[in-house]
Formats: sequence, structure tokens, C-alpha cells
Amino acid sequence: MYRRQYHFDPIRGTREQTSLLEPNLFDSVTERLDKAPDQMNPSDIDLSHINTTNEINLLTSSIQDIPSDQSCACLSSMYLTLDNIRSMKSFSFPSSLHCLRDALGTAELCIDCRVCPNQYLTATQNAQLLGTLLLSMSERYNRILKTIESDTIEAEDVRQTKTLQIGSTGMVEPRHEHIGSMAGSSEPLVLELPPSEWKRLAKKVVNAEVHGTSDPSRASFMSILATLEERQARWHMMEPTDDCPNPERRRHDMHDHNNNPMCLMLAREAKKLVDLFDFS
Ligand SMILES: [Zn+2]
Repeated sequence: MYRRQYHFDPIRGTREQTSLLEPNLFDSVTERLDKAPDQMNPSDIDLSHINTTNEINLLTSSIQDIPSDQSCACLSSMYLTLDNIRSMKSFSFPSSLHCLRDALGTAELCIDCRVCPNQYLTATQNAQLLGTLLLSMSERYNRILKTIESDTIEAEDVRQTKTLQIGSTGMVEPRHEHIGSMAGSSEPLVLELPPSEWKRLAKKVVNAEVHGTSDPSRASFMSILATLEERQARWHMMEPTDDCPNPERRRHDMHDHNNNPMCLMLAREAKKLVDLFDFS
């Protein structure tokens, strides 16, 4: 078990720099995300403002049944997903949500990885990139909400209706194969709505993506974030791996002055942004 300490002036300084009240955290993330794909490399993603905390707070654990030389695709899949998020050209509803839905799947897989926690470096990178990914996603959800707002105003100004397409995955097989096939049975159904009503429904969909639905098996942004929090709490309870550069420091200096795990700093910032989302 580790002992918690509460005197953290340097770390508190870091937290202050990354407060949501100051824009530099998001500026820094989006600035890096806005780089061209060929300019991306691990050091680009490694956010400068958390460099100082890396060595003292990110956790590793000993998982004896995974060989230390085993590799996984977590880091590359997170880089690719970050690049997809960075490259989003449009934030229109609902198409832009699919990219974030895919990102949720990536995050889920990387949280579950049994290989990453086996080494100090991969565990550190896994936790750090997951934080970056969640923070990037929260910024994109926010932008989609703002786009819904501006699209609504635009439609109201020109007195246009908005259209919602309704697709279905549970297709009914036609009784007679050749009838109706020209019309395309998978063609979406449409709902034509006044802009304000369209906005209300569109934001409900985004809300479901972020906060989830009554179906607990369907992943949402917040459920993934909670899973990451639970995982980090588990990692905190485990002994450092053999390759951890400073096991004593790792055991003790893992929490900030509010007793929050430092490895979840970016995830906490993402959560703070979600709290500011306008779903009305
Ligand atoms: Zn992994």
C-alpha cells in the first residue's frame, strides 16, 4: 500500500496552469491536434504541461502473467484515433459523432489492455494518451454542440426546416426478394422538423453519447471516463513494475493536494468541460 502525501507545491502549480478557467490547456491540446498527420510523433502528443508530472505520478503495475516482451497496438491505435479527431473537417450533426463513437471504442480497448501496464513506459504512455484522447473528444463534443446551435440559428434566419434521418440496423427481410429492391430498402427515413425541435433532438443524441442511455451496456463518454478512473485506482493499489525508475516516489507522490490521482489530470479536465456543455 502507498502512503498519501499532501504537500505538493510544484504539482499544484501544474494544476493551476491547466485549470479550465485558463484557455492554455485546450489551446495547447488543439494546437497539437491541428498539426498535419506527417508532423505527428510521440513527442508532439506528449503535452509539455504534464511533462513535469510524468515521472512522479504515472503508475505502473506488476502483471506477472503477461511476458514483458509482449507488445500491443494501443499506442498506435490511440495516435491514429487522435489524428482522426484532429482531422475532423466538419462538426455537423449527426455525421461528426461517428468519429467520436469510434474513438470511444479505441479508448475502451486501450483501458482494458493487459500488456500496457506491464512496463513503466507503456503504462505511462497508455495513461497519458488516454487522457489526451478524452480531453480531445470533449473538445469535439463541445464543438458539435456549438455547431448544432449555429445551424439552428441559420435555419431559423432563412425560415427553413431541418431534416433528421432515421436509419435502422434491424432490417426486415422482404417477403419477395425482387420487389422494392430498386428503391433501396436501407434508405434512411426522414423527419422534417422546425429548427428548434431539431436542435432539441440533436442535443439529446449528443447527450446520450456523452452521458449514456438507460442501456448500461452501451458505452458513453462518461462511462469510459469512469472506467479509466477505476482502472487507475486499481493501478495505484499495485506495486510498481521492476523497471519503474523511482518506485518509492511512485508509491508516495501520486496525488495532488486534493488527493486526486495525477495520472487522471487530463481526464478531470475533460470532465470539467463536459460539465460546461450546453444541452438546452
Ligand atoms: Zn496496450
